[in-house]
Amino acid sequence: MIETIRTVAALRARIAAWRQAGGASTVALVPTMGALHRGHLALIAAARAQAQRVVVSIFVNPTQFGPGEDFTAYPRNEAADLQALATAQADLLYAPEPGEIYGEGFATTVSVAGLSAELEGAVRPYHFAGVATVVAKLFNQTRPDVAVFGEKDYQQLLIVRRLAADLDIATRILAVPTLRESDGLALSSRNVYLTPHERQIAPALYATLGEVAAGIEASREIPAKLIDQAKRSLRQAGFAGIDYLELRDGETLAAVEHPNRPARLLAAARLGKTRLIDNVAVAATR
Ligand code: AMP
Repeated sequence: MIETIRTVAALRARIAAWRQAGGASTVALVPTMGALHRGHLALIAAARAQAQRVVVSIFVNPTQFGPGEDFTAYPRNEAADLQALATAQADLLYAPEPGEIYGEGFATTVSVAGLSAELEGAVRPYHFAGVATVVAKLFNQTRPDVAVFGEKDYQQLLIVRRLAADLDIATRILAVPTLRESDGLALSSRNVYLTPHERQIAPALYATLGEVAAGIEASREIPAKLIDQAKRSLRQAGFAGIDYLELRDGETLAAVEHPNRPARLLAAARLGKTRLIDNVAVAATR
C-alpha cells in the first residue's frame, strides 16, 4: 500500500527527505480529483518516465464547482484509488481535506484572465478561478519539477501553462493525449453517471469531432458549416444540449475561421444529466 499524506507540512517533510536522500531526486506531481481511471494512470506513467518520485494528489476541489453542479455527487472511492496507485507505482498519495487547503480566513484567488472566460468558462463562470487557485497552491505545496495534465481538459491545460509562466513557477508542464474507450469515448470519472442507453450514444461526440476535423483539414466545406451540421447530428443522436462546439487556435483559444496554425475543435454537450467534454486537434490547412 502506498503512503497517504493529508497535510501540507507532512507533504513538505516527505519531499524534503526525498530530495536530501536522493541528492538530485526529481519529483513529479499528478493532480487529480480521484475516481481514478486509465486516463489518470497514463498521466502517472508519463510522470514516472520524467521523475524519480511521483506524487498523485486527490482533491475534489469545492471552489471549482458552481452552485447546482455535482460536487456532492462526484464519485469518491479512496480505497479503489489506492489500489490503482499501487499498481501504477506512484510513490505517494496526497489527499488533503478541504480545511487543509482552505484554512480559516482564506481570501486569495488566482485568476487567469482571457483564457478563463472562454468556452468552459462562459458556461461555468467560477470554474477556472477555482482550478487556477488550487493548482497554484498544489504547485507551492509540492514544488514539483514536472506536473502532468491531460489534453482531455484542453482549456485547463492552457490555463495551467499560462499560470505557471506568469507566476514564474519553476515546474515544467507536461501534457498527455486523451485516453479513450475502444469506441472512442474519452475516459472520465463522470462517465459513471451515464445510463446504459446514454453510454451507447456518448461515443458520437468524439466521432463527430473527428469527422468535422477531417472535413476541415480536407477543406471539404467552410468550417462553420461543418460545425452547424455536426451540432444538428449530435442533437439527432440524442444530446440534449450543446454548450459549445467551436474551432479555436490551439494555443490562444482565439476564434478561428480557417486554421492557418494548429487549431483545436472543442465541445461540451449534455446527455441526460451528464455533461461531456472532448476536443481534437485540427491541422493547419494553409
Ligand atoms: P480529473 O480527476 O478529472 O480532474 O483529471 C485529473 C487529470 O487527469 C487532468 O489533468 C485531466 O485532464 C486528466 N485526465 C482526465 N481524463 C483523462 C483522459 N481520458 N485521458 C488523459 N487524461 C485525462
